[in-house]
Amino acid sequence: MKVLRGARLIDGTGAAPVTGATIVIDGERIASVAVRNEGDFPHDAEIVDCTGKTILPGLIDCHDHMANHRYDLAHRWGIDEPESTRHLRTAAVLRQTLEAGYTMIRDAAGLDAGFKRAIDEGLIAGPRLVLSISIISPIGGIGDAVAPSGASPFGDCCCVPRDPLLPSGVVETLGDVRPVVRRMVRAGADVIKCATTGGASSRPGHGPKDGAFNLDEMQALVEEAHALDRRVMCHALGGRGLDIAIAAEVDSIEHGCYLDEDPRQLERMAERNIFFVPTLLVYEYHRKSPLPHVRERAHALHEHHILAVQRALAAGVKVVAGTDAGGHGHPANAGELDCLVRAGMTPMQAVQAATLWAAECCGRAHEVGTVEKGKFADLIVVAGDPLADIATLREAKNIALVLKGGEVAADRMTHR
Ligand SMILES: [Zn+2]
Repeated sequence: MKVLRGARLIDGTGAAPVTGATIVIDGERIASVAVRNEGDFPHDAEIVDCTGKTILPGLIDCHDHMANHRYDLAHRWGIDEPESTRHLRTAAVLRQTLEAGYTMIRDAAGLDAGFKRAIDEGLIAGPRLVLSISIISPIGGIGDAVAPSGASPFGDCCCVPRDPLLPSGVVETLGDVRPVVRRMVRAGADVIKCATTGGASSRPGHGPKDGAFNLDEMQALVEEAHALDRRVMCHALGGRGLDIAIAAEVDSIEHGCYLDEDPRQLERMAERNIFFVPTLLVYEYHRKSPLPHVRERAHALHEHHILAVQRALAAGVKVVAGTDAGGHGHPANAGELDCLVRAGMTPMQAVQAATLWAAECCGRAHEVGTVEKGKFADLIVVAGDPLADIATLREAKNIALVLKGGEVAADRMTHR
């Protein structure tokens, strides 16, 4: 048994912090949470003095691309380095992300089920993973990787080189939708990732308001995913494609940059408990892109995006943290919390966006996302107070201790 004593506790539920908490961990789960140093534990328990520090649930990023390391085509198509080097790079990123305090990551495409298995078997260290495998989109959609010339020599996942052992996410006709969803699940998808619009970094001609998928195709996709108990995360920035995603009742809107434009969209999201994962951080990177069309799109959507976050909060939509990391560097996940606070969230809301709300968005709130009895002992001990300065979480040196399932994943506690 492990006992963490003396810390300020932010439990992830949104409740005000309490001081002098005692958290008892039995094996991989939290056995009890008590305030004022009470708590019930055996004499031989390992005591960790956390006085002066803050305990939070392990952080969750709902939109990452752990197997993506650069945005340029040479990397996306896998011609800049051997595959083995790329996989080892991904393994290093998984470990660094966990050590930075992120105990669960929802991968929005690119990471295959082998990494999850390697973590489960103890071959490598990494967060709990919620995998989508590949992006499902129609011909010409963001999952149909083509060069600006129209060529697709190494198709067909937009963020990592094609793996011939994995199913294609490109849908040709309405009849293909359900089999593609089933194949993705067969390959290990825990969540279905799809796209109904282009994005900032997609090819010229397929931008943030250019649609992909019709309503009947999206309804088939959502119905099939739900029949297989998979939630649907949908890349949708604006325009008709954003409307179609919400009408088809996906479970989360990824990016959602133009959600400020039609109040009925946010109303419907609030009604149907559709989460909003704005991924503000990646657009900071895109605003500096060497590609003029990417820069232009990222600048054009910026003010809309901030307004979208503010209006979503006002409408009662849960706004959740996701970085869309990959090309802009790992592990920068906590940078998103900074962006969310700058966009108008309180630091407490930003913490919820990366803990309980994020766990709900991933369909895992029954096991992670808060520091509560019975849940997995995924938690972090932070030197400093993230409610006073959310940027505290950005620096790995402030993340004094990381526990995943009760096991120490990183230990930077200076005195025990
Ligand atoms: Zn993404």
